[in-house]
Amino acid sequence: MANNKKTVLVIVAHADDMEFMAGGTIAKMADRGHDIHEVIATNNERGTLEPAWSQELAAEARQEEARRGAKVLGVQSVEFLGYEDGRLSETPLNELREKCMRAMRRVRPHIIFTWDPFANYENHQDHRAVAWATIEAASFCHFPLYHPEHRDEGLEPHYVGEHYYFAKVPQDVNKIVDISDYIDRKLESLYEHKSQMVLTVTDFKLALEASGLRLPAFENIDPQNYRPLIAQQIKAWAATVGRKINVVYGEEFRRVRFGGIERWLGEQALEEDT
Ligand SMILES: [Zn+2]
Repeated sequence: MANNKKTVLVIVAHADDMEFMAGGTIAKMADRGHDIHEVIATNNERGTLEPAWSQELAAEARQEEARRGAKVLGVQSVEFLGYEDGRLSETPLNELREKCMRAMRRVRPHIIFTWDPFANYENHQDHRAVAWATIEAASFCHFPLYHPEHRDEGLEPHYVGEHYYFAKVPQDVNKIVDISDYIDRKLESLYEHKSQMVLTVTDFKLALEASGLRLPAFENIDPQNYRPLIAQQIKAWAATVGRKINVVYGEEFRRVRFGGIERWLGEQALEEDT
């Protein structure tokens, strides 16, 4: 049980990344009194299968969904960096890193969450781009000669102690958080991303149709009625993770604490944050 109130910064590419990958953990941390802030790099304007939607409409809808989802989890602020969805790798790494470092020097987090840049099989360039920018920003945020111009705005160098990395296919997992009491909050936060939930169910139906396989329970599902399918999928995934530590539901991370200082600590142990 954490006694110290900490500040947490989640830096992601899209409106629903945090909810999908760490929603239970973030809700748990918020309940334990930690301050949580989120930075979303893109405008999310390509994340829809609705033929009638424009990019402007999608971007607007997803900003609103991001705010609602974050609110359910207890996140205090959401900042949008405004980059184009699906093209984040065109942004120079050093430009995006500066934006992430600026956010860290402003929010001054003890803990950051982001995509794991070292995980394999990540097919989305936005996830890969934000992961590299965030890990570099977190690693060098306390170096005063990285963006010394930040000081002119009152943004001082800052040491980011703990890094939580998530991935679709995680590697070197060393932290599993018991989210059994928070699975419903995770689901509620995802449900706020209505356009993404409809997309997820529609995409599932397209995959089923393209495969030629039959799954009668899902063939006639209305994407607008997304809750049962989302709940089933998220619970199945969280249960697989939870089994690794004998709890009902879990979320998993590769975590780096203070540059791996624990190996030098001997008898001492760092306090847990969740
Ligand atoms: Zn994403």
